[in-house]
Amino acid sequence: MTNQETTYYDTLIRQHLKELKPYSSARHEYDGDSKIFLDANELPYESDFNRYPDPLQKTLKERLAIIKSCSANQLFIGNGSDECIDLLIRLFCEPGMHSIVTCPPTYGMYNVSAQINNVNVSEVPLMESYDFNVPALCEIHVDQSPLMFICSPNNPTGNSLAIVDLKSILKGYEGIVVVDEAYIDFSDHSSAVKLLAEYPRLVVLQTLSKAYGLAGLRLGLCFANPNLIRWLNKIKPPYNINTAAQSKALKYLDNMEIISQRILEIQSERKRLKPMLEAYTFVKSVFSSDGNFLLLKVEDANALYTYLIQHEIVVRNRSSVLGCDESLRITIGTKDENNELLNVLSAYGNSTIFK
Ligand SMILES: *Cc1c(COP(=O)(O)O)cnc(C)c1O
Repeated sequence: MTNQETTYYDTLIRQHLKELKPYSSARHEYDGDSKIFLDANELPYESDFNRYPDPLQKTLKERLAIIKSCSANQLFIGNGSDECIDLLIRLFCEPGMHSIVTCPPTYGMYNVSAQINNVNVSEVPLMESYDFNVPALCEIHVDQSPLMFICSPNNPTGNSLAIVDLKSILKGYEGIVVVDEAYIDFSDHSSAVKLLAEYPRLVVLQTLSKAYGLAGLRLGLCFANPNLIRWLNKIKPPYNINTAAQSKALKYLDNMEIISQRILEIQSERKRLKPMLEAYTFVKSVFSSDGNFLLLKVEDANALYTYLIQHEIVVRNRSSVLGCDESLRITIGTKDENNELLNVLSAYGNSTIFK
């Protein structure tokens, strides 16, 4: 870490946090092996859960670092990526003064989290093609907007930002660039994690909620420069990842073959479904997707949404979102579920004026 890079965090991190003396838990002050633990007011009767969890999730991070080809000190784990998003806003954005940058249509939590923190949102909408407006993102001023969220692959449009474009943004814009890669495992694009050593202002978010199938455990991954990770550790709730989540996740990660196999299945179903959906007369277009979902533009999204509900199939109606007129987002299910969807859609085609 050069002096210049250290200065980056010094100027970007909110002033009052520099005075913060983080909560020091019992397990923090002594984390070695011993025989008798009388330091944390826990009950002494041993069960799976009578002790507080490891506040820094050492074992889980070491395993994830191997899987994700990074070092454990480049990794922070949040109670879902949603916690990481909130902590990043709290670390860099002064309420009532700063704004975050987002590229709508995109994931809704950036906006919600900013609002909760009384932080504004500067929107740089995707272009009509859904491509990112890279020149406009390069022009953003760090003084007003110290934090930028780029969702790639983007939810709900499914497209990705090319690595060369990410590099341009990191060069033109002087704030923190967060690339949310919640769907990266379904994509053929490579992750931005490999750029971290070179770009101290880059942050990458991933999650175990999507491709790893562990949404219920709430485990979000934040990859960044070790100095930035230290700041996140200072401001996080001391025991944000519970013992059950840590141990269950470790157990699941023993089965990487099954995880990889399922990703391949979802990718193959995505490929199979796209042309079949395009063939319906009431479907105007199906956008290429790097995620485990497809975005469809249809004749009448509300009517189709309601019809699907009547047939016990729930999809996401995105029609009210800017840039997503008459659009439904459909998650790729199992082969059987997808076939059922196709059957129900065929009946819709036969039963409506669109025939
Ligand atoms: C689903 C999703 C997340 C959610 O992550 P959690 O780890 O479950 O909180 C984050 N970002 C995007 C873009 C998502 O679509």
